[in-house]
Amino acid sequence: MSRVLVLNCGSSSVKYRLLDVPRSPEPEPVVVASGVVERIGEDAPGAPRDHAEALSAALAGLPLDGLTAVGHRVVHGGLTFTAPALVDDVVVAAIAELVPLAPLHNPANLAGIEVARALLPGVPQVAVFDTAFHRTLPAAASTYAIDAATAERFGIHRYGFHGTSHAIVSRRTAALLDRPLAEVNTITLHLGNGASACAVEGGRSVATSMGLSPLEGLVMGTRSGDLDPAIIFHLHRVAGMPIEEIDELLNRRSGLVGLAGVNDMRALLARRATGDPAAALAFEVYCRRIRSYVGAYYAELGRLDAITFTAGVGENAPAVRAAALAGLDRLGIEVDAARNDAPERGARVISPPDAPVAVCVVPTDEEWEIASQTLGVLAA
Ligand code: ADP
Repeated sequence: MSRVLVLNCGSSSVKYRLLDVPRSPEPEPVVVASGVVERIGEDAPGAPRDHAEALSAALAGLPLDGLTAVGHRVVHGGLTFTAPALVDDVVVAAIAELVPLAPLHNPANLAGIEVARALLPGVPQVAVFDTAFHRTLPAAASTYAIDAATAERFGIHRYGFHGTSHAIVSRRTAALLDRPLAEVNTITLHLGNGASACAVEGGRSVATSMGLSPLEGLVMGTRSGDLDPAIIFHLHRVAGMPIEEIDELLNRRSGLVGLAGVNDMRALLARRATGDPAAALAFEVYCRRIRSYVGAYYAELGRLDAITFTAGVGENAPAVRAAALAGLDRLGIEVDAARNDAPERGARVISPPDAPVAVCVVPTDEEWEIASQTLGVLAA
């Protein structure tokens, strides 16, 4: 049996999960402990001063004797990391070099790595990247149509995110359908606070909606997703907004919160149920964007076997699933109302029996994916 500590260090929080992984071909992990330390750096009584203090607090009560490894979620691996990496000084330096591409995330991830190395000397540490799963994107899918020399010089490239989630969910979809991963083409829809779509061809990511940063693509809780880039010039020139303010507007005050005043899908659905027109429009914009990506990725894949919903919204909001795929029956895509509305929780199919495309709901488990990739690196 292996014991793995999974750490997800954000700018103001540390999420941790301690997992026991039995030695078996298809191990089912046991969660020994999990939790979150929040409000890092806040000027409040009891708030941890920095990541070192937060992580010490998190690790204090944990049974870490015989710990096999620590798996770190790292948001941006750029083009450097196509797979998880055993942490050493060279890997730390490479993650630090990518900070300009992920100025909010990578510094926090690095802080977690540095502190864990100091607190747990001798325990192997593995960095698992959100971007790595998407390094199989064909060049035509990862290249932005801008001046090639400028793009090259500044690393303007579709990196993609949520890779651990798209990886585990596409694998679990193939297992749910009882088919070999290599033969299944799936569109995975990770709909959480952040949201992204991915076209997975036989287990390989071939298209994904987030790009240089997690801002592109689907409508999210607080992010706009796709828009005409000229909106940014217009806000700058005509509205006189500084770039920092536009950045904040598009990342923190757009999406559902921008349209309807709430970023939480439960709250949005509750408002829509009262007849609130802004909530109704936000819901339509959100679902329509998903439908556009499904159409685009269906065309990209040529043959589609499954569409899988995951994460907070995808797993728990039947109204979103039904609306996002409405009117696609001519493409073989249908949602069975009774199956969709059933209060089930596990991996399940919600399309009618024998539908050409299986519509699925599959819970994601990024911590388990990070732990299993971590053990994979140690085994290699
Ligand atoms: P994160 O991206 O932070 O991991 P989650 O995957 O937990 O986020 O997703 C959070 C989103 O899921 C929120 O918008 C929340 O409203 C939504 N959500 C959670 N439960 C439900 C539910 N029962 N019905 C509708 N939306 C839900």
